[in-house]
Amino acid sequence: MSSESRIAENYACLLQRIEAACKRSERPASAVKLVAVTKYAQVEWVQTLVRLGVRELGESRPQQLIERVPLIAAEVKWHLIGHLQRNKARRVLQSVSLIHSVDSVRLLRALDRLADELTLRPRLLLEVNISGESAKHGFSTEELVENWQTVLSLNNLQVEGLMSMAPFSDNAENARRVFRRLRELRDRLAEQSPASVALRELSMGMSGDFEVAIEEGSTIVRIGSLLYAGVE
Ligand SMILES: *Cc1c(COP(=O)(O)O)cnc(C)c1O
Repeated sequence: MSSESRIAENYACLLQRIEAACKRSERPASAVKLVAVTKYAQVEWVQTLVRLGVRELGESRPQQLIERVPLIAAEVKWHLIGHLQRNKARRVLQSVSLIHSVDSVRLLRALDRLADELTLRPRLLLEVNISGESAKHGFSTEELVENWQTVLSLNNLQVEGLMSMAPFSDNAENARRVFRRLRELRDRLAEQSPASVALRELSMGMSGDFEVAIEEGSTIVRIGSLLYAGVE
């Protein structure tokens, strides 16, 4: 099978699984957005995804994102889902629709200053390290709660929600607890925020655990490897 038809099949199958998970959790299919993660994909595969109708793409490395934006159709919206170094922030702010991975107060302040300078109001999510694994980026729950008034004071930024990754596991049910805790943290922070900060988005769920994430209230799933299964 050509890589084009393999990707088409994988994509169709993924959409069905997302739809079924929405149905099971009594949520409309429109409540969950798919971001196709392209960090392991060749540029031709990314172009195939765009031909199939995918319009939201995610990269984890800022450099690769910056390099790929001009190669891919302009109507595509890009998401940065990995750690952002401050020296890449200016280019990234000018290229992306949503940053999922803002992981420190220092980075927030730097983005706020840059946004002011560039007269942008970037949309972003705050990454939370719910599981507390030392290899993961992200705010701890306590840190985010403690700094919440500072977050709210940065007027050039639009904080739209939270993002997290579950620990790697063969059993997606282990991820459920992490996703639930992220949702509860979001609810708690939303209570302490003005109505203009709705924290609508929960970016959670990858190839191995997106169905559980949807059942726990995910609004954005970030999926890579399932799309390229069997593609050479
Ligand atoms: C790579 C990556 C994904 C996609 O992971 P898959 O398991 O390939 O679906 C999602 N989120 C982040 C932050 C990633 O780095």
